[in-house]
Amino acid sequence: MITDLFEEIYAKILEYDTIIIHRHVRPDPDALGSQLGLKALITKKFPEKKVYAVGTDVENLSFMGTMDQVENEAYENALVIITDTANRPRIDDKRYTKGKFLIKIDHHPDEDIYGDISLVNTQASSCSEIIADLAISLDARLPMNAEAARLFYGGIIGDTGRFLYPATTSKTMRIVSELMEYDFSASEMGQMMNTNSKKIANLSGYVLQNIEVNDLGVAHVILTQEALEQFGADDSDTAPVVPLPGTIEGIVCWGIFVEQATGGFRCRLRSKGPVINEVAKRHGGGGHPLASGANAADIAEIEEIIREFDELVVAWQK
Ligand code: AMP
Repeated sequence: MITDLFEEIYAKILEYDTIIIHRHVRPDPDALGSQLGLKALITKKFPEKKVYAVGTDVENLSFMGTMDQVENEAYENALVIITDTANRPRIDDKRYTKGKFLIKIDHHPDEDIYGDISLVNTQASSCSEIIADLAISLDARLPMNAEAARLFYGGIIGDTGRFLYPATTSKTMRIVSELMEYDFSASEMGQMMNTNSKKIANLSGYVLQNIEVNDLGVAHVILTQEALEQFGADDSDTAPVVPLPGTIEGIVCWGIFVEQATGGFRCRLRSKGPVINEVAKRHGGGGHPLASGANAADIAEIEEIIREFDELVVAWQK
């Protein structure tokens, strides 16, 4: 039962004086919202505890919050909590192994089972939804507060594409309704997430103009280093363009393939129906049924992924 896990996690939060919260590399709003929201919950209720959020800062998501600098010594006798991270290689800051007790809280398929306690709920829209649910369920023992509500709201709208994707459920909406009781501006958070720099707007134009779509509705765009440089953009700027092909009629699944400075391509894969995470797994990645990531060594591997998408669409249409 998930509520039993909530109790177990709460007991560990009570037990430890130092709590260090990690999340995945290349964080998105849900990674930061779940990590920093949990930190805000614990800090407000237990001001005497040392609570840290660690990992690399992301400039364009600085409105979510910033990371703490933590000495190695802090990990001795620390409780380490990892949010939103399915597999250990993707945990940002490898010192997570140095703590005394490890908790995983996540909503991705549980491919890599880790943690002394593991709370994985793949039915949840986002990791932020799970932790907001935990706080609402623990009630006065870990009360929600305005900053945590703001962060969880940001995480939820990030992972649901502002309630567009099928992972959005009535429970998501019930939790969002509770969050909106707190003193933060949901509209401001929505506007922040909806506002892109000019370089992203230009990159979006490039993506829309260079989409290749086949008869099955499988689409792809390759963003070479040269194309990115043209807009002064890099890999970290590509998140806002990933949903764009899904706004075009007839496109069923797609990939944005981002050439890496170190060689090879990061594959950002999305679908409106066919389950694509098995394809991602075959190419060194994983993720959700309709939103996955992988790596391609070269153009030939990209072509292979597109071919596998074609097969998926044919099977799905049947
Ligand atoms: P992205 O396109 O990076 O936003 O990733 C979409 C989803 O796929 C996220 O839920 C990620 O957790 C997952 N994902 C991305 N890259 C990888 C990877 N290399 N291995 C496993 N999962 C991944």
